[in-house]
Amino acid sequence: MEVELITIGTELLLGQVHDTHKQWLGQRLAGRGRPLSRQSTVPDDGPAICGAVQTALGRAGLVITTGGLGPTDDDLTRQLLADLLSRPLGRDASVAAQIADFFRQRNRPMPESVLVQAQVPEGAVVLPNRHGTAPGLAIEVSPNPFKAGGEPAWLILLPGPPRELRPMFEEQVLPFLEKQWPLRHGFHCRILRSLGIGESMVEETLRGPLRPLVARGLELGYCARIGQVDIRLSGSGPDVPALLVEAEAAVRAAIGKHIYGTGDETIAQAVVGRLIATGKTVAVAESCTGGLLGHHITNVPGASAAFAGGVLSYSNALKQKLLGVSESTLAEHGAVSKPVALGMAAGALEVSGADHALSVTGIAGPDGGTPEKPVGTVWLGLASTGRRPLAIRKFHPFGREVFKQATAHQALDLLRRRLQKND
Ligand code: ATP
Ligand code: MG
Repeated sequence: MEVELITIGTELLLGQVHDTHKQWLGQRLAGRGRPLSRQSTVPDDGPAICGAVQTALGRAGLVITTGGLGPTDDDLTRQLLADLLSRPLGRDASVAAQIADFFRQRNRPMPESVLVQAQVPEGAVVLPNRHGTAPGLAIEVSPNPFKAGGEPAWLILLPGPPRELRPMFEEQVLPFLEKQWPLRHGFHCRILRSLGIGESMVEETLRGPLRPLVARGLELGYCARIGQVDIRLSGSGPDVPALLVEAEAAVRAAIGKHIYGTGDETIAQAVVGRLIATGKTVAVAESCTGGLLGHHITNVPGASAAFAGGVLSYSNALKQKLLGVSESTLAEHGAVSKPVALGMAAGALEVSGADHALSVTGIAGPDGGTPEKPVGTVWLGLASTGRRPLAIRKFHPFGREVFKQATAHQALDLLRRRLQKND
C-alpha cells in the first residue's frame, strides 16, 4: 500500500517554518514498515490543495495531509476536501463540547469562529485532539472517484502544530493503520549509530561482509548526520530477526569501535549512561562550542549524577583565571593549540574534582583563521584521573553552527572511546 504525505502551508514554502512533519512522520511510518512513497508541499490555496489531494488519491491507498484545520481564514483544508469528496459538513456535538471545554478550562472566552472546527464531513472518523481544538479526521474514500477502478483509499487530515499532530499520530493514527493494513510479514529494523568514521568508509568497509546477508533479504541503508553515520538494518519476513542479529554482529566485527549506540540514542546519552553505570563524573571546559557540550550532556535525564559542571572560558583571560592555563602557553602556542586544550582539560579536572574533563578550543570562523590554523581548526582535550591526558586536532570548515555541533559530538566521542576501553 502506498502512503503519500501532503504538508499544507504557505509558510513552509516561504521557508518561514521548517517542515518537520515530513521528517517526523516519514521516520515513524518507515519504522512501522510503511515508508512514505511521496511527499509534497502546497500553499494555503484552494486549487493547489485540491489538486495535490486528488492526484495523491489517484495513486495511494493512504493520503495524509497536515495543517489548515484551524479557525482562521487561511485554514481551508476541511472545507475544501469535504467539497472535493462531496461530503456535506455537519456539526459534531461532541467535538463542539470538547472545544467549549478547552476554553472553559483555560478560563478564556470562546470566539464563535472556533466552532468551525467542530464541522465534520459526513462519514468521517473524528480523531480527538488532546492538545488543541481542531480534531483530526479520517475519511474512507470509497468508491474512489480518482482511481480508474474506484479502488478505495483513506484520507487522513491532521492539524499543523507539531505538539497536536505528534500525539494524535502516535495514539490514534498508528493503531488505526495497524488494524486497517496489518503487515503480512512483521517489519523489523535495527539502527546502529556510529561516530568518527566517514559515510563512504562505513559503506566500503561493510559492503563485503554484508553482501551475503543482503542476498538473503537484508535491507541496508546509511544516513549521514553531522559527524555521524547511522547504519540501518531492516527487512520484513519471518527470517529477518535472525538475519538482523547476524548483520549486527558483522557490523560490530568490522567497525565496532566506532559504534556508540543503537536506535535513536544520542552520543550524550551513550556517554552519560556509561558514566552513571560506572559511578563516574565528567566536567567540561568550553571555548568555541559556547556551552553546547554542556547543553548536550544536560539534555540527558539524570545527567546530574554524572555531570559536575563546566567552565565557559571564551576569552584567554578566563582560560587563565578559571582554568590555570598559563599566559606563556597562550602566548607561545595560541589559544587554539594542543597545550591549551590539555591545559583547559587539566584545569577543569582539578577545579571540578570530576573523574574526567573534556575541553574544546577552536576557530569557528568566519574570521580568525591563519594559514597554519585555518577556520574550522579545533583541538579537543581529555584529562582523566590516573590516565594519560590526550588531545586531538580536528577540522570542520562548515560554518559556525555545524562546527559547534560536530565539535561537541566529537568531544563526547573522545570520552566515549576512553570509557569503552575501560570496560
Ligand atoms: P491552528 O489551529 O494552529 O491554526 P492548523 O491545523 O490550521 O492549526 P496551520 O495553521 O497550517 O495548522 O499551522 C499551524 C502551525 O503549525 C504553523 O504556524 C507551524 O508553526 C506549524 N506547522 C504547520 N505545518 C508544519 C510542518 N509541516 N512542519 C512543522 N510545523 C508545522
Ligand atoms: Mg491554522
